[in-house]
Amino acid sequence: MSAPLKLSARAEGLQPSLTLAIAAQAKQLRQAGRDICSLSAGEPDFDTPAFIRQAAAAALEAGHTRYGPVAGEPALREAIAAKLTLENGVPTTTDQVLVTNGGKQALYNLFQVLLGPGDEVLLPSPFWLSYPEMVRLAGAEPRLLVTEAARGFRFTPDELEAQIRPSTRLLVLNSPSNPTGMVLDRQDLEAIAAVLRRHPQVAVVCDEIYEFLLAPGHCHHSLAAVAPDLAERLFIVNGFAKGWAMTGWRVGWLAGPRPVIAAAAALQSQSTSNVCSFAQMGALAAITANRDCVHAMADRFSARRQHLSEGLGRIPGVVLIPPEGAFYAFPDVSAWGLDSMTLCRRLLEEVGLAVVPGLAFGDDRCIRLSCAAAEATLDDGLDRLARFQDRL
Ligand code: GLU
Repeated sequence: MSAPLKLSARAEGLQPSLTLAIAAQAKQLRQAGRDICSLSAGEPDFDTPAFIRQAAAAALEAGHTRYGPVAGEPALREAIAAKLTLENGVPTTTDQVLVTNGGKQALYNLFQVLLGPGDEVLLPSPFWLSYPEMVRLAGAEPRLLVTEAARGFRFTPDELEAQIRPSTRLLVLNSPSNPTGMVLDRQDLEAIAAVLRRHPQVAVVCDEIYEFLLAPGHCHHSLAAVAPDLAERLFIVNGFAKGWAMTGWRVGWLAGPRPVIAAAAALQSQSTSNVCSFAQMGALAAITANRDCVHAMADRFSARRQHLSEGLGRIPGVVLIPPEGAFYAFPDVSAWGLDSMTLCRRLLEEVGLAVVPGLAFGDDRCIRLSCAAAEATLDDGLDRLARFQDRL
């Protein structure tokens, strides 16, 4: 008999992604015949626009099927650099861009090449649930900068300053935010930059994956455009999943200072190599086209965000700070007297509604609902939630 295999310390503490797990569970239950409404994973329900699919299909047909440069197709890297320069006001050259397997690998690679034991990473909380796990996988420790719904999930410059220590290596900014929908405006970013100028050891990564998904009246700003003097320690993560409805394609990017991008490319060369060759050609078609399809989908999400917010507002005991972007609502339902894990388990069991517990995002009072679903599905989800509340 052989001894049981022992997992590494790294793997032992690792939590699987709950957003993906709940979405998969909802799918499974539905396949097994249960009547399920899923407002769990943040995934556009639209198909990838036809011209993007056609570009990838044509590349595949033309034999674009071999290993490519690890850091990405040169034309795609160049197009991403041009997008950052022209659309975001962040002057970027091709060698400052790494094409990654979705935004997730961009973050993972960055954390791996930048962080190690003894380092701390500041995460404004509520946070997207993969950040702390990825930080720990890099041997570093997350440190939370707790924000409250009552203040629109914003932190003040003083609160930021108070959490910075000599061991703070990185600040993660996610605007528009998953799960809260908070959007950092220009003034917020200027105030953050002023604090960062006093702490030269702190780098920043801006996760801009929801860049295009904004409620009317809100604008996306890149910290790197607002504070160009900090460029030597600013990183941008973004990708095609949310804006172009390309979640399954797994194409994203990391942009920032050259030596770090080169190190992240070296890491990628020893792990996953290039991102799928023909998927990159679809991404190239997407990013070099105008933004009509992106804005058309974003408009639909805005209408649904509004619809979901209004519907939630009608359910007793639900307190919602209206999301300013992304495609989630993160209401406080603590008045119902259940912790978020129990609540989400009971919602699934009792009314067939799949949503994500706020605990996974750092706030046990809340649950996360995605509005990346048709209006009829949102209404169905709202009905189920109201029915559950009614029975409590
Ligand atoms: N980022 C999306 C979400 O939060 C997709 C799933 C994931 O990768 O976490 O639902």
